[in-house]
Amino acid sequence: MIETKGYAALAAKKPLEPFTFSRREPGDEDVLIDIRYCGICHSDIHQARDEWGGSAFPMVPGHEILGTVLKVGANVSRFKEGDTVGVGCFVDSCRSCAACAEGLEQYCENGMVLTYNGLEKDQETATQGGYSTRIVVDHNFLLRVPDSIKPEEAAPLMCAGITLYSPLKHWGAGPGKKVGIVGMGGLGHMGVKIAAAMGAEVTVFSHSEKKKDDALAFGARAFVAGMDEATAASLAGSFDLIVDTVSAEHDMNLLLSLLKREASLVLVGVPEQPHKIAPFPLIGGRRNLSGSLIGGIAETQEMLDFCGKHSLGSQVEIVSPERINEAYERVVRSDVRYRFVVDLAPLK
Ligand code: NAP
Ligand code: ZN
Ligand code: ZN
Repeated sequence: MIETKGYAALAAKKPLEPFTFSRREPGDEDVLIDIRYCGICHSDIHQARDEWGGSAFPMVPGHEILGTVLKVGANVSRFKEGDTVGVGCFVDSCRSCAACAEGLEQYCENGMVLTYNGLEKDQETATQGGYSTRIVVDHNFLLRVPDSIKPEEAAPLMCAGITLYSPLKHWGAGPGKKVGIVGMGGLGHMGVKIAAAMGAEVTVFSHSEKKKDDALAFGARAFVAGMDEATAASLAGSFDLIVDTVSAEHDMNLLLSLLKREASLVLVGVPEQPHKIAPFPLIGGRRNLSGSLIGGIAETQEMLDFCGKHSLGSQVEIVSPERINEAYERVVRSDVRYRFVVDLAPLK
Protein backbone atom coordinates (compact mmCIF):
# COMPACT_ATOMS: atom_id res chain seq x y z
CA MET A 1 0.00 0.00 0.00
CA ILE A 2 1.05 3.60 -0.58
CA GLU A 3 1.30 5.57 2.67
CA THR A 4 -0.27 8.97 2.11
CA LYS A 5 -0.43 12.09 4.25
CA GLY A 6 -3.38 14.40 3.92
CA TYR A 7 -5.86 16.71 5.60
CA ALA A 8 -9.27 15.29 6.43
CA ALA A 9 -12.60 16.25 7.93
CA LEU A 10 -13.25 13.55 10.54
CA ALA A 11 -16.88 14.60 10.99
CA ALA A 12 -19.32 17.14 9.51
CA LYS A 13 -18.58 20.75 10.42
CA LYS A 14 -15.33 19.83 12.22
CA PRO A 15 -12.13 21.63 11.11
CA LEU A 16 -9.89 19.58 8.83
CA GLU A 17 -6.85 18.02 10.49
CA PRO A 18 -3.76 15.99 9.55
CA PHE A 19 -4.68 12.44 8.52
CA THR A 20 -2.59 9.49 7.34
CA PHE A 21 -4.10 6.79 5.12
CA SER A 22 -3.20 4.21 2.45
CA ARG A 23 -3.73 4.27 -1.31
CA ARG A 24 -3.84 1.05 -3.36
CA GLU A 25 -0.65 -0.18 -5.04
CA PRO A 26 -0.83 0.92 -8.69
CA GLY A 27 -2.13 -1.84 -10.99
CA ASP A 28 -1.35 -2.35 -14.69
CA GLU A 29 -3.74 0.45 -15.80
CA ASP A 30 -2.83 2.85 -13.00
CA VAL A 31 -0.62 5.89 -12.58
CA LEU A 32 0.92 6.91 -9.25
CA ILE A 33 1.00 10.70 -8.93
CA ASP A 34 2.94 12.98 -6.62
CA ILE A 35 0.39 15.74 -5.87
CA ARG A 36 1.87 19.23 -6.00
CA TYR A 37 -1.21 21.45 -5.86
CA CYS A 38 -4.91 21.05 -5.18
CA GLY A 39 -7.54 23.77 -5.57
CA ILE A 40 -10.16 24.44 -2.91
CA CYS A 41 -13.57 24.25 -4.60
CA HIS A 42 -16.68 25.45 -2.79
CA SER A 43 -18.03 21.90 -3.31
CA ASP A 44 -15.25 20.68 -0.97
CA ILE A 45 -16.70 22.91 1.74
CA HIS A 46 -20.34 21.91 1.04
CA GLN A 47 -19.32 18.23 1.36
CA ALA A 48 -16.89 18.52 4.30
CA ARG A 49 -19.67 20.32 6.18
CA ASP A 50 -22.31 17.84 4.92
CA GLU A 51 -24.42 20.68 3.51
CA TRP A 52 -25.81 18.46 0.73
CA GLY A 53 -26.41 15.41 2.99
CA GLY A 54 -24.91 11.93 2.64
CA SER A 55 -21.27 12.86 3.28
CA ALA A 56 -19.00 10.04 4.51
CA PHE A 57 -16.15 10.58 7.00
CA PRO A 58 -13.22 10.66 7.38
CA MET A 59 -13.09 12.73 4.18
CA VAL A 60 -9.99 14.03 2.43
CA PRO A 61 -11.52 16.60 0.03
CA GLY A 62 -9.95 17.96 -3.15
CA HIS A 63 -10.78 17.41 -6.84
CA GLU A 64 -8.65 20.03 -8.56
CA ILE A 65 -5.49 17.95 -8.50
CA LEU A 66 -2.23 18.76 -10.24
CA GLY A 67 0.79 16.55 -9.93
CA THR A 68 3.75 14.77 -11.44
CA VAL A 69 3.73 11.15 -12.59
CA LEU A 70 5.93 8.99 -10.33
CA LYS A 71 5.21 5.56 -11.81
CA VAL A 72 3.02 4.00 -14.51
CA GLY A 73 1.50 0.51 -14.73
CA ALA A 74 2.50 -2.07 -17.35
CA ASN A 75 -0.37 -1.22 -19.74
CA VAL A 76 0.02 2.57 -19.61
CA SER A 77 1.63 4.12 -22.69
CA ARG A 78 0.05 7.62 -22.78
CA PHE A 79 1.88 8.86 -19.68
CA LYS A 80 5.41 8.53 -18.37
CA GLU A 81 7.38 9.40 -15.26
CA GLY A 82 7.80 13.17 -14.90
CA ASP A 83 4.66 14.19 -16.87
CA THR A 84 2.50 16.97 -15.43
CA VAL A 85 -1.03 15.62 -15.06
CA GLY A 86 -4.41 16.55 -13.64
CA VAL A 87 -7.23 14.70 -11.89
CA GLY A 88 -10.70 16.20 -11.64
CA CYS A 89 -13.96 15.33 -9.91
CA PHE A 90 -14.17 11.64 -10.80
CA VAL A 91 -11.68 8.79 -11.15
CA ASP A 92 -13.79 6.10 -12.84
CA SER A 93 -17.26 5.35 -14.25
CA CYS A 94 -19.09 2.24 -15.51
CA ARG A 95 -17.60 2.78 -19.03
CA SER A 96 -20.53 0.95 -20.65
CA CYS A 97 -23.74 3.00 -20.29
CA ALA A 98 -25.01 5.37 -23.00
CA ALA A 99 -23.56 8.42 -21.22
CA CYS A 100 -20.11 6.86 -20.84
CA ALA A 101 -20.22 5.73 -24.49
CA GLU A 102 -20.73 9.41 -25.46
CA GLY A 103 -17.85 10.58 -23.27
CA LEU A 104 -20.26 12.06 -20.75
CA GLU A 105 -18.92 10.11 -17.77
CA GLN A 106 -20.16 12.84 -15.42
CA TYR A 107 -23.70 11.66 -16.23
CA CYS A 108 -22.83 7.93 -15.94
CA GLU A 109 -26.14 6.09 -15.48
CA ASN A 110 -24.52 3.74 -12.97
CA GLY A 111 -22.80 6.53 -11.06
CA MET A 112 -19.30 7.85 -11.64
CA VAL A 113 -16.66 7.13 -9.00
CA LEU A 114 -16.15 10.47 -7.27
CA THR A 115 -12.56 11.46 -6.52
CA TYR A 116 -13.53 11.72 -2.84
CA ASN A 117 -16.66 11.23 -0.75
CA GLY A 118 -17.42 8.20 -2.93
CA LEU A 119 -16.73 4.49 -3.17
CA GLU A 120 -14.38 2.63 -5.47
CA LYS A 121 -15.99 0.12 -7.84
CA ASP A 122 -15.61 -2.56 -5.13
CA GLN A 123 -18.37 -0.57 -3.33
CA GLU A 124 -16.32 -0.82 -0.13
CA THR A 125 -13.22 1.35 -0.29
CA ALA A 126 -13.80 5.05 0.31
CA THR A 127 -12.17 7.34 -2.25
CA GLN A 128 -9.99 10.17 -0.88
CA GLY A 129 -9.13 13.40 -2.64
CA GLY A 130 -6.29 15.74 -3.38
CA TYR A 131 -5.50 17.49 -0.09
CA SER A 132 -2.88 14.76 0.12
CA THR A 133 0.59 13.84 -1.04
CA ARG A 134 -0.18 11.03 -3.52
CA ILE A 135 -2.97 9.54 -5.57
CA VAL A 136 -3.35 6.41 -7.72
CA VAL A 137 -5.62 6.84 -10.76
CA ASP A 138 -6.56 4.74 -13.80
CA HIS A 139 -4.86 6.39 -16.79
CA ASN A 140 -8.18 6.64 -18.67
CA PHE A 141 -9.30 9.26 -16.14
CA LEU A 142 -6.09 11.27 -16.16
CA LEU A 143 -5.56 14.60 -17.94
CA ARG A 144 -2.57 16.06 -19.71
CA VAL A 145 -1.74 19.60 -18.60
CA PRO A 146 -0.30 22.11 -21.11
CA ASP A 147 3.11 23.64 -20.30
CA SER A 148 1.88 27.15 -21.09
CA ILE A 149 -0.07 27.35 -17.81
CA LYS A 150 1.72 27.45 -14.43
CA PRO A 151 0.90 24.23 -12.54
CA GLU A 152 -0.66 26.02 -9.56
CA GLU A 153 -2.84 28.07 -11.94
CA ALA A 154 -3.82 24.96 -13.91
CA ALA A 155 -5.05 22.97 -10.87
CA PRO A 156 -8.42 24.82 -10.63
CA LEU A 157 -9.18 24.08 -14.27
CA MET A 158 -9.89 20.43 -13.31
CA CYS A 159 -13.21 21.49 -11.77
CA ALA A 160 -13.79 25.27 -12.06
CA GLY A 161 -12.48 25.38 -15.65
CA ILE A 162 -14.48 22.46 -17.03
CA THR A 163 -17.64 23.33 -15.10
CA LEU A 164 -17.83 26.62 -17.03
CA TYR A 165 -16.32 25.47 -20.34
CA SER A 166 -18.89 22.68 -20.78
CA PRO A 167 -22.09 24.80 -20.58
CA LEU A 168 -20.50 27.71 -22.45
CA LYS A 169 -19.70 25.35 -25.31
CA HIS A 170 -22.96 23.37 -25.13
CA TRP A 171 -25.13 26.50 -25.23
CA GLY A 172 -23.07 28.16 -27.95
CA ALA A 173 -21.11 31.01 -26.32
CA GLY A 174 -19.11 32.72 -29.03
CA PRO A 175 -18.89 35.79 -31.27
CA GLY A 176 -22.13 37.79 -31.39
CA LYS A 177 -23.48 36.16 -28.21
CA LYS A 178 -24.21 38.10 -25.04
CA VAL A 179 -23.33 35.92 -22.04
CA GLY A 180 -23.93 36.62 -18.34
CA ILE A 181 -21.83 35.05 -15.58
CA VAL A 182 -23.48 35.27 -12.16
CA GLY A 183 -21.12 35.16 -9.14
CA MET A 184 -17.43 35.75 -9.74
CA GLY A 185 -15.71 33.29 -7.44
CA GLY A 186 -13.55 30.31 -8.42
CA LEU A 187 -15.98 29.05 -11.07
CA GLY A 188 -17.23 32.45 -12.20
CA HIS A 189 -13.83 34.03 -12.85
CA MET A 190 -12.87 31.09 -15.10
CA GLY A 191 -16.23 31.50 -16.84
CA VAL A 192 -15.43 35.12 -17.63
CA LYS A 193 -11.98 34.25 -19.01
CA ILE A 194 -13.22 31.29 -21.07
CA ALA A 195 -16.35 32.97 -22.45
CA ALA A 196 -14.30 36.04 -23.45
CA ALA A 197 -11.70 33.79 -25.14
CA MET A 198 -14.55 32.07 -27.04
CA GLY A 199 -15.44 35.52 -28.40
CA ALA A 200 -18.62 36.20 -26.43
CA GLU A 201 -19.60 39.59 -24.97
CA VAL A 202 -19.54 38.95 -21.22
CA THR A 203 -21.42 40.69 -18.40
CA VAL A 204 -20.62 39.81 -14.78
CA PHE A 205 -23.38 39.89 -12.14
CA SER A 206 -21.83 40.22 -8.70
CA HIS A 207 -23.30 41.03 -5.31
CA SER A 208 -21.00 44.02 -4.69
CA GLU A 209 -18.84 46.56 -6.58
CA LYS A 210 -15.59 45.04 -5.24
CA LYS A 211 -14.72 42.79 -8.16
CA LYS A 212 -15.48 45.22 -11.00
CA ASP A 213 -11.89 46.03 -12.05
CA ASP A 214 -10.92 42.35 -11.96
CA ALA A 215 -13.97 41.37 -14.03
CA LEU A 216 -13.04 43.85 -16.74
CA ALA A 217 -9.40 42.69 -16.62
CA PHE A 218 -10.55 39.04 -17.06
CA GLY A 219 -12.34 40.07 -20.27
CA ALA A 220 -15.85 41.16 -19.21
CA ARG A 221 -17.38 44.11 -21.12
CA ALA A 222 -19.91 45.02 -18.41
CA PHE A 223 -20.38 44.59 -14.68
CA VAL A 224 -23.62 44.70 -12.69
CA ALA A 225 -23.40 44.93 -8.88
CA GLY A 226 -26.35 43.88 -6.69
CA MET A 227 -28.98 43.91 -9.43
CA ASP A 228 -32.24 45.75 -8.69
CA GLU A 229 -35.58 45.91 -10.56
CA ALA A 230 -34.60 49.03 -12.52
CA THR A 231 -31.32 47.52 -13.77
CA ALA A 232 -33.13 44.29 -14.62
CA ALA A 233 -35.74 46.24 -16.60
CA SER A 234 -33.02 48.04 -18.58
CA LEU A 235 -31.40 44.70 -19.52
CA ALA A 236 -34.61 42.66 -20.00
CA GLY A 237 -34.66 40.24 -22.94
CA SER A 238 -31.06 40.91 -24.00
CA PHE A 239 -28.99 37.82 -23.03
CA ASP A 240 -28.35 34.70 -25.13
CA LEU A 241 -27.06 32.69 -22.18
CA ILE A 242 -26.59 33.17 -18.44
CA VAL A 243 -24.53 30.78 -16.29
CA ASP A 244 -25.25 31.03 -12.56
CA THR A 245 -22.39 29.95 -10.26
CA VAL A 246 -23.69 31.39 -6.97
CA SER A 247 -23.23 29.09 -3.97
CA ALA A 248 -25.89 30.72 -1.75
CA GLU A 249 -29.62 31.47 -1.96
CA HIS A 250 -30.45 34.33 -4.36
CA ASP A 251 -33.25 35.54 -6.63
CA MET A 252 -33.17 33.81 -10.01
CA ASN A 253 -36.36 35.38 -11.37
CA LEU A 254 -34.75 38.70 -12.25
CA LEU A 255 -32.00 36.75 -14.04
CA LEU A 256 -34.58 34.80 -16.07
CA SER A 257 -36.16 38.07 -17.19
CA LEU A 258 -32.84 39.13 -18.75
CA LEU A 259 -32.90 36.26 -21.27
CA LYS A 260 -33.93 36.61 -24.90
CA ARG A 261 -36.84 34.47 -26.07
CA GLU A 262 -35.91 30.74 -25.84
CA ALA A 263 -32.52 31.49 -24.28
CA SER A 264 -31.17 29.54 -21.29
CA LEU A 265 -30.25 30.22 -17.70
CA VAL A 266 -27.89 27.41 -16.68
CA LEU A 267 -27.41 26.55 -13.02
CA VAL A 268 -24.04 25.29 -11.93
CA GLY A 269 -23.96 26.66 -8.36
CA VAL A 270 -25.45 24.40 -5.70
CA PRO A 271 -26.91 26.31 -2.75
CA GLU A 272 -28.10 24.36 0.29
CA GLN A 273 -31.78 25.32 -0.20
CA PRO A 274 -33.96 24.93 -3.35
CA HIS A 275 -34.57 28.00 -5.53
CA LYS A 276 -37.97 29.67 -5.78
CA ILE A 277 -38.87 30.01 -9.45
CA ALA A 278 -41.72 32.29 -10.55
CA PRO A 279 -43.61 30.94 -13.58
CA PHE A 280 -44.03 34.16 -15.60
CA PRO A 281 -40.38 34.91 -16.49
CA LEU A 282 -40.10 31.34 -17.85
CA ILE A 283 -43.46 31.18 -19.63
CA GLY A 284 -43.21 34.70 -21.02
CA GLY A 285 -40.33 34.11 -23.38
CA ARG A 286 -40.45 30.31 -23.73
CA ARG A 287 -37.21 30.50 -21.78
CA ASN A 288 -35.19 27.56 -20.46
CA LEU A 289 -33.86 26.83 -17.01
CA SER A 290 -31.13 24.17 -17.18
CA GLY A 291 -28.29 22.70 -15.20
CA SER A 292 -24.83 21.41 -15.97
CA LEU A 293 -22.39 19.18 -14.10
CA ILE A 294 -18.60 19.43 -14.63
CA GLY A 295 -17.65 17.71 -17.94
CA GLY A 296 -16.45 14.37 -19.35
CA ILE A 297 -12.82 13.36 -19.69
CA ALA A 298 -12.55 14.13 -23.42
CA GLU A 299 -14.15 17.55 -22.95
CA THR A 300 -11.95 18.29 -19.93
CA GLN A 301 -8.89 17.55 -22.07
CA GLU A 302 -10.32 19.79 -24.81
CA MET A 303 -10.81 22.57 -22.20
CA LEU A 304 -7.21 22.17 -20.96
CA ASP A 305 -5.91 22.41 -24.53
CA PHE A 306 -8.12 25.49 -25.15
CA CYS A 307 -6.86 27.14 -21.94
CA GLY A 308 -3.29 26.20 -22.89
CA LYS A 309 -3.69 27.83 -26.30
CA HIS A 310 -5.14 31.03 -24.80
CA SER A 311 -2.89 30.97 -21.68
CA LEU A 312 -5.90 30.92 -19.37
CA GLY A 313 -4.95 29.95 -15.85
CA SER A 314 -6.86 30.63 -12.66
CA GLN A 315 -5.99 33.62 -10.48
CA VAL A 316 -4.85 31.86 -7.33
CA GLU A 317 -3.81 32.41 -3.74
CA ILE A 318 -1.49 29.65 -2.51
CA VAL A 319 -2.02 28.30 1.00
CA SER A 320 -0.16 25.72 3.05
CA PRO A 321 -2.17 22.71 4.34
CA GLU A 322 -2.42 24.03 7.91
CA ARG A 323 -4.29 27.08 6.55
CA ILE A 324 -7.06 25.09 4.81
CA ASN A 325 -9.62 25.82 7.55
CA GLU A 326 -8.89 29.55 7.40
CA ALA A 327 -9.21 29.40 3.60
CA TYR A 328 -12.61 27.69 3.96
CA GLU A 329 -13.88 30.57 6.12
CA ARG A 330 -12.67 33.09 3.57
CA VAL A 331 -14.30 31.25 0.64
CA VAL A 332 -17.63 31.27 2.48
CA ARG A 333 -17.26 35.05 2.99
CA SER A 334 -16.51 35.47 -0.79
CA ASP A 335 -13.09 36.74 0.32
CA VAL A 336 -10.92 34.92 -2.21
CA ARG A 337 -9.27 36.26 -5.37
CA TYR A 338 -10.22 33.89 -6.98
CA ARG A 339 -9.19 30.38 -6.00
CA PHE A 340 -7.24 29.05 -3.04
CA VAL A 341 -4.77 26.39 -4.06
CA VAL A 342 -3.12 24.16 -1.45
CA ASP A 343 0.62 23.63 -1.91
CA LEU A 344 1.22 20.06 -0.71
CA ALA A 345 5.01 20.40 -0.37
CA PRO A 346 4.93 21.02 3.44
CA LEU A 347 3.26 17.60 3.97
CA LYS A 348 6.06 15.70 2.23
P1 NAP B 1 -16.96 30.49 -4.71
O1 NAP B 1 -15.57 30.67 -5.14
O2 NAP B 1 -17.31 30.62 -3.28
O3 NAP B 1 -17.87 31.48 -5.60
C1 NAP B 1 -19.24 31.63 -5.38
C2 NAP B 1 -19.63 33.07 -5.69
O4 NAP B 1 -21.01 33.21 -5.43
C3 NAP B 1 -18.96 34.10 -4.80
O5 NAP B 1 -17.69 34.47 -5.23
C4 NAP B 1 -19.91 35.26 -4.90
O6 NAP B 1 -19.69 35.98 -6.10
C5 NAP B 1 -21.26 34.56 -5.02
N1 NAP B 1 -21.93 34.53 -3.71
C6 NAP B 1 -21.52 33.90 -2.60
N2 NAP B 1 -22.37 34.11 -1.59
C7 NAP B 1 -23.34 34.87 -2.10
C8 NAP B 1 -24.54 35.42 -1.56
N3 NAP B 1 -24.88 35.22 -0.26
N4 NAP B 1 -25.35 36.15 -2.37
C9 NAP B 1 -25.01 36.35 -3.66
N5 NAP B 1 -23.88 35.87 -4.21
C10 NAP B 1 -23.07 35.15 -3.44
O7 NAP B 1 -17.50 29.04 -5.12
P2 NAP B 1 -17.13 28.14 -6.40
O8 NAP B 1 -16.06 27.19 -6.02
O9 NAP B 1 -16.99 29.01 -7.58
O10 NAP B 1 -18.46 27.26 -6.52
C11 NAP B 1 -19.71 27.89 -6.78
C12 NAP B 1 -20.85 26.90 -6.62
O11 NAP B 1 -20.79 25.95 -7.69
C13 NAP B 1 -20.81 26.08 -5.34
O12 NAP B 1 -22.14 25.91 -4.87
C14 NAP B 1 -20.22 24.75 -5.79
O13 NAP B 1 -20.61 23.68 -4.97
C15 NAP B 1 -20.84 24.63 -7.16
N6 NAP B 1 -20.12 23.75 -8.11
C16 NAP B 1 -20.86 23.14 -9.06
C17 NAP B 1 -20.23 22.36 -10.02
C18 NAP B 1 -21.04 21.72 -11.11
O14 NAP B 1 -20.53 20.82 -11.77
N7 NAP B 1 -22.25 22.15 -11.35
C19 NAP B 1 -18.84 22.20 -10.00
C20 NAP B 1 -18.12 22.86 -9.01
C21 NAP B 1 -18.76 23.63 -8.07
P3 NAP B 1 -19.75 37.58 -6.13
O15 NAP B 1 -18.84 38.06 -5.04
O16 NAP B 1 -19.27 37.91 -7.49
O17 NAP B 1 -21.18 37.94 -5.91
ZN1 ZN C 1 -15.36 21.45 -7.67
ZN1 ZN D 1 -21.57 4.83 -17.28
